[in-house]
Amino acid sequence: MNATTHAVFGIAALVGASLFAGEEPALYAYPAAAVAAWIPDVDNPRSRLGNGLSRTKSPVLDGLARPVSWGLRALSFVLFRTVGHRTLTHSLLGVLIFAAIVSPLAALVPGLYGALLAGYASHLFADALNTRGVPLLWPMGKPFRLLPGGVRSGGASEFVVATLAVLATGYGLYELYPAIGRSFDGFLALTF
Ligand SMILES: [Zn+2]
Repeated sequence: MNATTHAVFGIAALVGASLFAGEEPALYAYPAAAVAAWIPDVDNPRSRLGNGLSRTKSPVLDGLARPVSWGLRALSFVLFRTVGHRTLTHSLLGVLIFAAIVSPLAALVPGLYGALLAGYASHLFADALNTRGVPLLWPMGKPFRLLPGGVRSGGASEFVVATLAVLATGYGLYELYPAIGRSFDGFLALTF
C-alpha cells in the first residue's frame, strides 16, 4: 500500500478508536496518526520515512530535520539489511516494541500515545488487505491475509480500498463531531 493509503487508514483508525472511546481527539492527533501509519515501512529504504524527511524551503527547518532524516535512513538501512522489508516492523512483536518506545508519552500526553498506536496498528491492518499479507507472528508463522487473494499494491483496487476508508472516516467524523454533523444536515436540508 502507498503512503497516501496508509495515512488515510491511520486517520480512519484514530477516528474509529475515538468513537469507541467516546472522546474527541485533539487536532494534533490527526497528523500524528497519519505519520505513525508510515513508521512500519521504515524497513523499506524507498518508503516515505525510510528515505529520510523531504527537504523544505526553510534552512532552519532543514537543519533541525537533518539529524532525524539521517537517523531514519540509518534505521531503514539496518532493518532492510538484517530482517528485511515486511518482517519485524509489520508483526505483533513490532507493535509491542513501538508501544514500549513511545510509552513515556502514555502518562504525559495520552491522546498522542493513543493516536500513534492507532496509526501504527492501522498499517498492519492495511497491509493485511494486501496480496502479500503481514507476518503478524514474525519470526514464526506464515503471512496473514484478511482477503482471499488480497488487494494488489498500487492498482485500481488499492484506490477503491483507500476511497472506502475515506468514506468510512467521513462518516466517523460526522458521528464524532455532532455539532458539525447537525450543521451539515442543515446545509443538506437547505440545498435539497
Ligand atoms: Zn507496510
